[in-house]
Amino acid sequence: MSELCYNCFKPKSACLCSYTKEIDPGIKFVLLMHQKEAKRQRTGTGHIAKISLKDSEILVGFEFEHNKRLQELLSDPQYFPVMMYPGEEAWTAKKEGFGDVLKGKKLLVLILDSTWFCARKLIEHNPFLLKLPRLSFYGDYRSIFTFKHEPRPEYISTIESCYYLIKEMQENGLCPADVDPEPMMNAFKQMIKFQLQAENERILGIRPNSHSYDAKYNKLREIPTFD
Ligand SMILES: [Zn+2]
Repeated sequence: MSELCYNCFKPKSACLCSYTKEIDPGIKFVLLMHQKEAKRQRTGTGHIAKISLKDSEILVGFEFEHNKRLQELLSDPQYFPVMMYPGEEAWTAKKEGFGDVLKGKKLLVLILDSTWFCARKLIEHNPFLLKLPRLSFYGDYRSIFTFKHEPRPEYISTIESCYYLIKEMQENGLCPADVDPEPMMNAFKQMIKFQLQAENERILGIRPNSHSYDAKYNKLREIPTFD
């Protein structure tokens, strides 16, 4: 395994730090990461999101109901905490009244930063999370991450979730219009390029095959330019 950059948690040869730019959307993002996936960050985007978003945090664990930091944040009156999760009663940035509930409070968004499988485990183990007000998108998005095979097409990566939420908040005047979230998406695109390139090099034998589960990726992939 190649050496990791302990800021973006990518191999140093594919470090994304220079592609990121910190923005301050006036929203506090808290990423809940399954402890099993905390070190498996090859396809994860949580750390890139954290570097990109001022005041964001990653909390690693499995049992969050008694997580001191999370409970501290949830009981802090300066925040209006929401769980990023679909549901009939979920808020969206354009739902009537959302601007009013935020008056004088900072939006605190909890996001499950996990693969679909581990996110489900986290929810099962922490049902209190679904008792929080929920926030969802009104737009319908698909991930540009062609490498990852999630069982649900609407399951988008953490960094895409943050990106689209900021866009929807901006469209509704709930986030400053001069905040530019594009560098987040650009860093994500660069991550995809690095990964596809690494996969191709493994297939071509230029790079050792360090992950046994890569065996199923045996076809060279075209690296997108995203133009
Ligand atoms: Zn880095």
